[in-house]
Amino acid sequence: MATNQDLHTAARDLMPGGVNSPVRAFGSVGGTPVSMVAGEGPYLTDTEGKRYVDLVGSWGPALLGHKHPKVIEAVHAAVDQGLGFGTSHPAEARLAELVRERVRGENLTGAQMIRMVSTGTEATMTAIRLARGVTGKNLVVKFAGCYHGHSDGLLAAAGSGVATLGLPGSAGVTQAQASETIVIEYNDRQALEAVFAEHGDNVAAVITEATPANMGVVPPSEGFNAFIREITQRHGALMIFDEVMTGFRITEAGYWGASGRVEGWEPDIFTFGKVIGGGLPTAALAGRREIMEHLAPTGPVYHAGTLSGNPVAMAAGVATLENATAEVYRHIDEKAQVVADALAAALSDAGVDHTLQKVGSLFSVAFGTSATGVHNYAQAQAQEAFRYGPFFHAMLEQGVYLPPSVFEAWFLSAAHDDEAVGRILQALPAAARAAAGA
Ligand code: PMP
Repeated sequence: MATNQDLHTAARDLMPGGVNSPVRAFGSVGGTPVSMVAGEGPYLTDTEGKRYVDLVGSWGPALLGHKHPKVIEAVHAAVDQGLGFGTSHPAEARLAELVRERVRGENLTGAQMIRMVSTGTEATMTAIRLARGVTGKNLVVKFAGCYHGHSDGLLAAAGSGVATLGLPGSAGVTQAQASETIVIEYNDRQALEAVFAEHGDNVAAVITEATPANMGVVPPSEGFNAFIREITQRHGALMIFDEVMTGFRITEAGYWGASGRVEGWEPDIFTFGKVIGGGLPTAALAGRREIMEHLAPTGPVYHAGTLSGNPVAMAAGVATLENATAEVYRHIDEKAQVVADALAAALSDAGVDHTLQKVGSLFSVAFGTSATGVHNYAQAQAQEAFRYGPFFHAMLEQGVYLPPSVFEAWFLSAAHDDEAVGRILQALPAAARAAAGA
């Protein structure tokens, strides 16, 4: 039996850092990355046969838990017909219909049309191109600490792995590309007003995470998203609402995503990913008909994809959304509250200063931040991040697999039952003491 160490040593020879996505490398928490070989419900099993309660959920897609019977059955049925044809397929329209149905608000047009792509990166990249094509303007405004995938212009001051590795952005991004992205602090209305005062005529889009969860979870201040909507509309810029993480996961806003529909406004373009692919590579952009029809072949903004709308991925997405019932969300919200409360209590008992950052079922912890809370990237970065490594490893040791970075959210699933949650609660006090001793 190959150990985690054996596999990682071999992988490091074959792949940069031994991984295909940086945060998997345990860069900020240290130690040997774990190679998982199987998942079932709320559990993962590594190559050494050790079982963990999983709080990563494949970084979001595993809303129903791993290997949900209905999803596996749908994927098997799709595979039996062939892996992909590079043609239209009935399941594409079915998934598009499910997305549109759930995004539509009362009297609002929502996501009238949808374009399937393969990753969240591709969705946001295409959304930016579309916004530029529609408006004829160049500049994009993003918020520090928000992560929108790794396309060149969106890597400035990005969250997720860019934050974990402490990078200002990425080498290989040209000055020209960087200069077309304006980065301001999250939750800062005055900064946004100043950008529009200076560049108002040339802003194609403001892109924001519906609720940021890539610098840890940072809730939007009251009315902040609505303010973005209002100021973009006033200046003829588009609002791109990145719901790759929150879409079909957060229910707090009254629908299956985190947008402001319940407040009576909506963005121009949504991006989705993760949950809508049910664990296979699918993401999407969506918006009003007159915007979306700017995409080829009906319009001049080009986007294409060999694997876009792949039938096996569509089958996983359809089965996931069809089984993502109100009861599923109620369950996840409830369990997330239990775990978040226990996390905060364990840290308090161990005397660890912290803020519990939570929106709906997504949450994370920020160490040493109780004096200010965390409302933006500067505050997220100023935390005592060094406490997370010992905390993470104490949980791992006890069989709980957390995101290997303090800047990532914890994900629960419909499969996290009392037993799985009980194991998490049992492990927290020792981990909190490890964080205290760090
Ligand atoms: N947007 C957001 C909000 C994300 O959280 C992510 C990935 N974590 C992306 C975009 C990029 O998605 P992908 O990794 O599928 O390219």
